[in-house]
Amino acid sequence: MPAIPCPKCKTPIVFDFNDIIKGEQFTCNNCSIKITLSYEDNKTTLLKAKEKLDELKDELGID
Ligand SMILES: [Zn+2]
Repeated sequence: MPAIPCPKCKTPIVFDFNDIIKGEQFTCNNCSIKITLSYEDNKTTLLKAKEKLDELKDELGID
């Protein structure tokens, strides 16, 4: 699963691409801050991460 560092405490927050696209909020397990990742604002980064993930899945032969 991809993860982004919490803006407050830097704990990695695991996210799901589908949730971002739906506009869901993510909560940090450590400090409980709520963050919203905008798909539009982070499109380039997210798509790059998704590409990498897909490549890795291909390499490993998992779906
Ligand atoms: Zn945090």
